[in-house]
Amino acid sequence: MLNENKKGKLFVISGPSGAGKGTLREKALNDIKNLVYSISCTTRKPREGEVDGVQYRFITHEKFKEDIEKNLFLEYAHVHSDFYGTLKADVIRELNVGNNVLLEIDVQGALQVRKKIFDAVLIFIAPPSIEELEKRLRNRHTESEEALKIRLNNAAKELELKDGYDFIIINDDLERAAAELRKLIESQI
Ligand code: 5GP
Repeated sequence: MLNENKKGKLFVISGPSGAGKGTLREKALNDIKNLVYSISCTTRKPREGEVDGVQYRFITHEKFKEDIEKNLFLEYAHVHSDFYGTLKADVIRELNVGNNVLLEIDVQGALQVRKKIFDAVLIFIAPPSIEELEKRLRNRHTESEEALKIRLNNAAKELELKDGYDFIIINDDLERAAAELRKLIESQI
């Protein structure tokens, strides 16, 4: 187990893309004091408007592989068709100074975190249905048809793993789900 003396608590949110994790994460970070976000590394190309070091650290496949070999990641996974990972040092630094840390990562990553930080709180954000998820993803217009199919396929697989989480929040209504998430995190801090 990593980091016996940490003062903060680690929260992990996962869920299929289009479930509203990103928006719920922003709301939680705005509303909850002492909750900080850990910026992941990815080999994915930035989308329009994304800035290196803000949404992600955008790195090359070579750099990502190097960092895996150096054992720098708390967790990492191959999601859709790119690598995504959380740097161990980032999380440990924040926990040690007493900040609570929020990760927004996929299910494979969340299960790796669980094995390393036993008291991490795993929260699954689920859409009301797969049909609603597809509608939301299509309305977002950020993915090609092929990328969208990959995301929908992965969503079905991710939903099967939701029972491994400590809590499940159904994002049927954004304000309601945000209030539930806030209450949940605050009750665990
Ligand atoms: P997107 O490309 O839409 O930003 O993110 C795609 C997926 O990658 C999302 O499900 C997101 O939760 C996941 N993800 C983002 N950062 C990380 C990370 O550091 N580790 C893992 N395992 N998944 C991540």
